[in-house]
Amino acid sequence: MLLVTYIVVGVVPLLLMASTMLHSTKIYFVEERKKELLSEANVIAGQLASYDFFENPMSPNTLEKVIFGTEPEGFRVLVLNSSAIVVYDTGYEEVGKTYFIPEVMDALDNKDIAREKKNGNIYAAASVVGKDTQMDGVVLVVDSVKDVTDMVGNIAQKSYVLLAILLVVVIVIMVVMSRLFTEPLKRMIQVIQKMAEGHFEQRIVVKNRTHNEIVDLALSCNHMADQLEKVDSIRQQFVSNVSHELKTPLSSVKVLSESILLQEDVPKEMYVEFLHDINSEVDRMSAIINDLLTLVKLDQKEIPINFEEHDLNTIMEGIIKRLTPLAEVKQMKIVYTKEKDVTAVVDEMKLTLAISNLVDNAVKYTPEGGSVTVTLDADHQNAFITVADTGIGIPEDEVGYIFERFYRVDKTRDRETGGTGLGLSITYATVLLHNGSIKVNSKENEGTTMQVRIPLHQNVS
Ligand code: ADP
Repeated sequence: MLLVTYIVVGVVPLLLMASTMLHSTKIYFVEERKKELLSEANVIAGQLASYDFFENPMSPNTLEKVIFGTEPEGFRVLVLNSSAIVVYDTGYEEVGKTYFIPEVMDALDNKDIAREKKNGNIYAAASVVGKDTQMDGVVLVVDSVKDVTDMVGNIAQKSYVLLAILLVVVIVIMVVMSRLFTEPLKRMIQVIQKMAEGHFEQRIVVKNRTHNEIVDLALSCNHMADQLEKVDSIRQQFVSNVSHELKTPLSSVKVLSESILLQEDVPKEMYVEFLHDINSEVDRMSAIINDLLTLVKLDQKEIPINFEEHDLNTIMEGIIKRLTPLAEVKQMKIVYTKEKDVTAVVDEMKLTLAISNLVDNAVKYTPEGGSVTVTLDADHQNAFITVADTGIGIPEDEVGYIFERFYRVDKTRDRETGGTGLGLSITYATVLLHNGSIKVNSKENEGTTMQVRIPLHQNVS
């Protein structure tokens, strides 16, 4: 389809241009010939007037010598008197005939004129003015436009040969262009259609390494496919993680309840113990589901962000107050330092949850007797909340993963600490929602420092 368009766009203007040019050339040559013949007629009329031809008629032979010298020109000359009767004709055929044709009449009216007639001849008529400025007669020069037509025909022939060559060149160029552009586009469409059906492994083969728009488009498509494949694999991984996370407590519930059901005369203490275990497994499942729901909502931006100006110190004090009992259980202290009074535009609920997760982790991953230090500071653009602990730390090669969903450094330990592996993901998503960032600094067995940066102002539209 594109090829046809290319050819039409390339060839039609060429043809139009050629025919217009030929037409104009013909008109130009005919006009030139008309002028030429009219000036011939005028010259002859002048000669006749100077010989006073109509008063002293001369023999055709003498006349011819007067008119043409020795060489007769290629055109026909007729001399007519004031009654439009032919008195001389180079062809001798028309002598005696009356020529009431418009050109003769015009010339007799002292309007010299040259016209192209339908029969393919040019008539140029010039008046012979007598002594008393009366019209003695007319010189009519007749010539066929065949010469001009032949010449233009000749040019046309050559032009058409040239045009044909040009046409072939244009078609070849168009075919090459269509190969260059249309074919890769077609291939791209096929691949994209396959991607749309869910085959994200499809890639467009780019052979040409020089950059042009088509190659860039293909590379962009491939990049998009990479991203889609990544998103798809993250999604699959996520679903498998969720199933796995829920499966473990669910199996425990199943085993616990079956063991009670299958036993006869179960003592009451055992019932209570098993129900207690079942209860904590159910708590665990609901914690996972709650965290998941929070994350999904953060992702979908479903929960409206409630940006308001808040005193961050008040928020921080609230968090510390709520988590202190947890620390005390482990004989730990949470030390809070406020470097400055900081007010920032934040979503109080979301930020509280995000920072609580950090402080909660600091307490969770620090052995008894350790310490957790929380600092609030700011510069003229950002607030900085730092949570530092003297805990177990995170291995260097795992720091990059801790914000991923369900990622845990030590899988067994976390089951004991009751973490869902989603806390940091929630914190990360919340900080992003505030257009901030998190920096992690950690050393194994020495401790971890997490610093959250939140802009003091949000561009709320
Ligand atoms: P969890 O519910 O398991 O705590 P998080 O998403 O909050 O999940 O944390 C992910 C993992 O990062 C944790 O399992 C833990 O291994 C590691 N981690 C987070 N905070 C700390 C910290 N302060 N010290 C050491 N390890 C940490």
